[in-house]
Amino acid sequence: MDFEVSEEMTVRLAMIDAFMDREVLPLEGELLHGDPETLAEGVAGAQAKVKQMGLWAPNHPVEFGGLGLSMVDHGLFAEAVGRSPLGMTVFGTQAPDAGNIEILHKYGTPEQNDRWLRPLVDGEIRSCFSMTEPETAGSNPVLLATTATVDGDDYVIDGQKWFTSSADGAAFAIVMAVTNPDAPPHQRASMIIVPTDTPGFNLVRNVSVMGHTGSGHASHGEVIYQSCRVPRANLLGTEGGGFVIAQDRLGPGRIHHCMRWLGIAARAFEMMCRRANQRVIAEDGSHLADRQVIQHWAAELDAEIRGARLQVLHAAWMIDQHGAKTARDEISAIKFVVANTMLKAVDTAIQAHGALGVTDDTILAYWYRHERAARIYDGADEVHKTSLGRRVLRRHADE
Ligand SMILES: Cc1cc2nc3c(=O)[nH]c(=O)nc-3n(C[C@H](O)[C@H](O)[C@H](O)COP(=O)(O)OP(=O)(O)OC[C@H]3O[C@@H](n4cnc5c(N)ncnc54)[C@H](O)[C@@H]3O)c2cc1C
Repeated sequence: MDFEVSEEMTVRLAMIDAFMDREVLPLEGELLHGDPETLAEGVAGAQAKVKQMGLWAPNHPVEFGGLGLSMVDHGLFAEAVGRSPLGMTVFGTQAPDAGNIEILHKYGTPEQNDRWLRPLVDGEIRSCFSMTEPETAGSNPVLLATTATVDGDDYVIDGQKWFTSSADGAAFAIVMAVTNPDAPPHQRASMIIVPTDTPGFNLVRNVSVMGHTGSGHASHGEVIYQSCRVPRANLLGTEGGGFVIAQDRLGPGRIHHCMRWLGIAARAFEMMCRRANQRVIAEDGSHLADRQVIQHWAAELDAEIRGARLQVLHAAWMIDQHGAKTARDEISAIKFVVANTMLKAVDTAIQAHGALGVTDDTILAYWYRHERAARIYDGADEVHKTSLGRRVLRRHADE
């Protein structure tokens, strides 16, 4: 195992760190209290500079204008840009587009790629991924109820989805729907590309989450597909191949989230330490940092963040060396370990900031609201623990 950072990547990371401090962190004020249009202008300006620096969409394939980074290098990149909620968007690697780009790249036909993949990588359009349904358990997608029925040269899609994140303003959705109801459970569903201007694609609302409905990229749409007709040529991959594609999408997607969360954990931790060193809490001039309880918080978090980081880099290295399938255990483990470490870092930093921590004068409360979902999406903690636990116990079955 070798996590030595190449010279080229070291230079890129230094450029990214400087750019984040200079151009991205100052935009957070607009995100927290400002005007969405001013924010959008600021983000577009920063994106243009990222393109000029040659750092746009670094995880995407070179032939589509990315840098084709390895998983380990992408991990280091995502950690650096994850320090701000705006980082991924400014660098062109935000979810759900990043995952859609990966599956289009792997399964898309040349026609699909020309129409959808290229403009998506270039940041000219946005997309969404429409799998979860309010009425069926997302943790077990064999229960999916949305159907896509063949009618001549078309599929006709009917069903209700929600948490189709970023549907608001997206050019197309990749929808998972049942095409082969009589097939074995994991061969029943397919992925289908649905332009959002297709009649029958009804974005009925942006779901209010933690008090905010959001808009545009920062929203979670409820979509009703009502006799929504698209050509059969919009099928992604093979009919009945939806579960295989979902697995291909969610595997790397999970690791991308973990890498970004490391950036959040690191920044929240630094904020906590800074606050503890500066806040005077007694007449003798002593600081929060002089109290043993805070020293224990600092020690525990420092150790946990280091551990989480090494686990993520190891999982990324496994994927680079042996593929995502071999790294199944490592990916399951980091999904719940890093989500919980990141949430603990944010919560502890809020505690150390006192009342200031729950205001929107710092970024901490934003993360508290937005990142709680980390323990739910892309596989809830309990689901990953169950599947990892089963495999671990099986390995010891003959002892
Ligand atoms: C912020 C956010 C963004 C999202 N973005 C998208 C998106 O873009 N596209 C999309 O399709 N979906 C998206 N989702 C949906 C997400 O993938 C689902 O919420 C997730 O799969 C869980 O499904 P569910 O909500 O139906 O919960 P359920 O499946 O009903 O599970 C509820 C809870 O039950 C427990 N549980 C479930 N199964 C088991 C088990 N086997 N053993 C023990 N406990 C269990 C877990 O604690 C789980 O949290 C998003 C969700 C959130 C919160």
